[in-house]
Amino acid sequence: MKQIAENLARVKEQINAAAGRSGRTAGAIKLVAITKGRSIEEIQTLLDVGQNLLGENRVQEAKQKYDQIHSISPTPLDKHVYEWHLVGHLQRNKVKSALEMFTLIHSVDSMRLLVEIAKRAEIRKQTANILIQINTTDEEGKFGLESNSVIDFIESSLSYPHARIVGLMTMGKFTASADENRRAFALLRSISETITNKKFPGITMQYLSMGMTNDFDIAIEEGANIVRIGRAIFDGAN
Ligand SMILES: *Cc1c(COP(=O)(O)O)cnc(C)c1O
Repeated sequence: MKQIAENLARVKEQINAAAGRSGRTAGAIKLVAITKGRSIEEIQTLLDVGQNLLGENRVQEAKQKYDQIHSISPTPLDKHVYEWHLVGHLQRNKVKSALEMFTLIHSVDSMRLLVEIAKRAEIRKQTANILIQINTTDEEGKFGLESNSVIDFIESSLSYPHARIVGLMTMGKFTASADENRRAFALLRSISETITNKKFPGITMQYLSMGMTNDFDIAIEEGANIVRIGRAIFDGAN
């Protein structure tokens, strides 16, 4: 578990350095530690060292952990306050469960999903914060809206204020060159600027969620303010 603390410290230094290169401080960038496939003990270790923003990519796995955590202790995870984001694909039949656990959904990629989120959020008398996922690398079969459909999508979303769009998310290509992913991240940023300039009521571009273990430094240089990192934190941990 010492390995996790060391890895996390190294990742934070790298975030800090990349933030500096983009004229920002590390405080401007949120690190979501991705805990898919990791145990409750590993999650606990993260919380112990103060990393309390966590992300999962599947509702079902998250729910199992959630139930486990809440059965160990009525005050979850030894009173640590934590925040949980959903970063993976969301099916409409899991929206209800997702809203019970997650404070931000990064992966909204269809109007049907957005409408379902809005409907469930309204029933819960809340507003759900969401990011729109965009397929900036034009990969076939990859989740996310096509870049050129985003403005129309946002216009349609204005009828559903219980799903509040607070930014955009994208994934680099696993096999891509650094330059290719840099272009994808720059594209996400430019789409967010276009949206901001249109001043849609109730829509903010507060967050740009981009960058994982392989490419988070580049993503930060291109303006990411949320990075989602798993392997770099857990490598060699068990
Ligand atoms: C797994 C995952 C990550 C983290 O990936 P690493 O390569 O482990 O850093 C980030 N975002 C999403 C959507 C993921 O599924």
